[in-house]
Amino acid sequence: MVTAYCVKCKAKGVTMKDPVIHVTEKGGYMAKGVHEACGTTLCAMISKENAEAAIASGEARKEAA
Ligand SMILES: [Zn+2]
Repeated sequence: MVTAYCVKCKAKGVTMKDPVIHVTEKGGYMAKGVHEACGTTLCAMISKENAEAAIASGEARKEAA
């Protein structure tokens, strides 16, 4: 599950809808998605393990390079 902090709801650990995994120039993994309850874009740094697990499970998709 990919979760993030929602700045609008001020809630931690909200689940991202349709998360997309983005790999940064430094090799870090970032997930971007939407908080379904409020429509705010969520963004979170996540571990490589979590990113790959989310992609493998079909929960998230990898951003096209
Ligand atoms: Zn929200």
